Amino acid sequence: MEIFVRAIPTATVKKHGSTYLFMKPALKTVLVTGGAGFLGSHFCEFLLAKGYRVICMDNLITGSTTNIQHLTSHKQFRFVKHDVTQHISVAEEIHYILHFASPASPIDYLKLPIQTLKVGALGTHNALGLAKAKKAVFMLSSTSEVYGDPLVSPQKESYWGNVNPIGPRGVYDEAKRFAEALTMAYHRVHKIPVRIARIFNTYGPRMRKDDGRAIPNFITQALANKAVTVYGDGSQTRSFSYVADEIDGLYRLMLSDVNEPVNIGNPQELTLLEIAQQIVALTKSKSKITFAPLPVDDPKVRKPDITLAQQKLGWKPTTTLEEGLQKTIAFFQQQHAKNPLH
Ligand code: UDP
Repeated sequence: MEIFVRAIPTATVKKHGSTYLFMKPALKTVLVTGGAGFLGSHFCEFLLAKGYRVICMDNLITGSTTNIQHLTSHKQFRFVKHDVTQHISVAEEIHYILHFASPASPIDYLKLPIQTLKVGALGTHNALGLAKAKKAVFMLSSTSEVYGDPLVSPQKESYWGNVNPIGPRGVYDEAKRFAEALTMAYHRVHKIPVRIARIFNTYGPRMRKDDGRAIPNFITQALANKAVTVYGDGSQTRSFSYVADEIDGLYRLMLSDVNEPVNIGNPQELTLLEIAQQIVALTKSKSKITFAPLPVDDPKVRKPDITLAQQKLGWKPTTTLEEGLQKTIAFFQQQHAKNPLH
């Protein structure tokens, strides 16, 4: 009897006395730390749809099981409640570690300054140690905050930034800068394949309405016809990236062989006043725009140069701001309909 082995055998098919051992491509396993957060949960969902096995790890201090409820019945999904600043132990083989765990909105990291520093330092160390033990590719979700209040615009990956290490935002900025440094050290010393994504302001469904960031605040206020609170005079700029574009860019980076940081963001730059006005218009709200004090060290400009992502990953965002905002507004409207008291 002839036996044809096509790949790793997972199914046997008999045909005219010959046995064909077919191989379904072996599933790759991805550990997503911070998998119950906004971006992490979108990434878990995306990976499951692509046919990966996903271990989602989160201590739920800013993430929520509500974000992953719809994934829990999936056969290839597993949730582990764990604080990654403590030793991480996973028995099975892991091919990719996506280290997304961290408080990420200014009010969260101002409330949780020590946890933010610990997850960037100890959490990254543990996740890198696991990547080394498992011979896995390690991807860090870094941030445009490594550029601080930038003195050049747009920001290229080669710009070193302008960060106040001891200001209130320093806990996040420096945690991520340390995480990048540690990631590169593991790459240089232990030869671990690493990816560093510098993520710019990302928005979309599943953001928490109370996370204090501009887009959820403005949408929630506009839908309730309450004052829309622009901080400062609203002339500071941000470049907002829709979550589906962001995940597409991050996934391409994960599969690439680029070990150096890559900006993943949308270069369309707007002032905060323009964003507020656009949200008021799209929600057909009666809200008035009011001005409140600018938070300490609030960056004046932020705009990614995405030449590297375009060249190395063939990536650029495709969702227009209006399209992305409409989808995000629809999400907040649904949330409100489900739970009008909150
Ligand atoms: N912002 C604002 N009103 C709000 C919330 C935020 O004007 O209700 C401003 C904030 O001062 C900053 C920008 O919006 O200039 C983006 O803030 P966000 O918290 O979304 O993220 P950041 O880019 O500061 O990390």
